Amino acid sequence: MNFDLNEEQSEIRDMVRRFTEQEITPHAEEWDEQSHFPRAVFEQMGSLGLMGMTTPEEYGGGALDRLTGALVYEELAKGDMGTAVGLSVHNMITGTLARFGSEEQRERWVRDLAAGKLQGAFSLSEAEAGSDAASLQCRAERQGDSYVINGTKLWVTSGGVADVYLLMARTQPGTGSAGISSFVVEKGTPGFSFGKTERKMGLHSSPTRELIFENCVIPAANRVGEEGQGLKIALSSLDSGRVNIGAIAVGVAQAAFETARDYARERQQFGHPISSFQAIQFMLADMAMKIEAARLLVYEAASKPEGSREAAMHAAMAKCFATDTAMEVTTNAVQVLGGAGYVRDYPVERYMRDVKVAQIFEGTNQIQRIVIARALLGKV
Ligand SMILES: Cc1cc2nc3c(=O)[nH]c(=O)nc-3n(C[C@H](O)[C@H](O)[C@H](O)COP(=O)(O)OP(=O)(O)OC[C@H]3O[C@@H](n4cnc5c(N)ncnc54)[C@H](O)[C@@H]3O)c2cc1C
Repeated sequence: MNFDLNEEQSEIRDMVRRFTEQEITPHAEEWDEQSHFPRAVFEQMGSLGLMGMTTPEEYGGGALDRLTGALVYEELAKGDMGTAVGLSVHNMITGTLARFGSEEQRERWVRDLAAGKLQGAFSLSEAEAGSDAASLQCRAERQGDSYVINGTKLWVTSGGVADVYLLMARTQPGTGSAGISSFVVEKGTPGFSFGKTERKMGLHSSPTRELIFENCVIPAANRVGEEGQGLKIALSSLDSGRVNIGAIAVGVAQAAFETARDYARERQQFGHPISSFQAIQFMLADMAMKIEAARLLVYEAASKPEGSREAAMHAAMAKCFATDTAMEVTTNAVQVLGGAGYVRDYPVERYMRDVKVAQIFEGTNQIQRIVIARALLGKV
């Protein structure tokens, strides 16, 4: 397997690296402190072609391969994980509508999503349906040429700031996953409102919000795919999303490692830089080794053909390993900085707070291990 980057991939990675250094990294601390959603940065990412990265060119996308996408997320996450996560969710919606949407839906939403004129969000989870997504209860009842939606969704990344919501709702009561369908619901539709914004440990630049549907009527033409295909569509979107979360985790871990390495060279104790102590050297060596392993797993997962069972397993492996690695690396980066790591003078405590959620969302790492085991063993 060869992951030497071609010219286009190197150019895009370098462009995003410069963009992150100029437009994101200098502001990330302030966005974290003020829970600021950087809308203007998303507009800029639209003009850079990052809002429809893997979407076909005929709908205004960049038609990039998924490995290039992973490089982009890795670079952005070095600056601010929340921004990278918002972009990943957005691209998940753009890509899903391009893949599963009707011609009319593609014309209506994909072009504007890919241009960054609209922002997308993904709404599967509910208070009682997290890992067990198939048990969701939000109801979409067919009435003539419309669906009437009632229920509450939780944990929606970019909730409130997004314009287009890919909603998974129940069209058949009591039929498990086969009774779930996908819909596009636009912000501003009567009966669709926003509830509480979560107060989180980290990822403060990425709003996470509750969605409330009270007799919200949408045209039947907003259904994506056939009735009953909703969970299949959602899980397929998550397969690509998981590779991106793996790439984001690698970016955060790399940034934490570099901060720890540079600090260890400067900080003097007992008359020597702490980088001369073997305990610190081994921590840095372990960080670098595990980041490299995580990066290769992410690149391999990104290179698998989308939609295959093999791709799903590799996406789960990449997400699980990279996010566990990032949690370990960011925690150890705080340790290398000692007390300075625990306060906000350095970004490592933010990296640690931010990256924790990567072990939880887009399927917890326990669920990733179930996906991997099922792929290895079949049904047992
Ligand atoms: C910041 C943030 C952003 C999010 N963004 C979105 C979003 O945009 N859209 C969206 O739909 N959702 C989103 N989520 C929801 C997220 O995907 C869920 O939190 C996640 O799937 C876990 O569900 P849960 O929180 O209900 O945990 P639970 O499912 O209640 O799990 C609790 C614990 O039990 C474990 N567990 C559960 N089932 C099993 C099992 N069978 N075997 C072993 N262990 C198990 C879990 O691993 C976990 O450790 C977001 C969450 C957060 C925190």
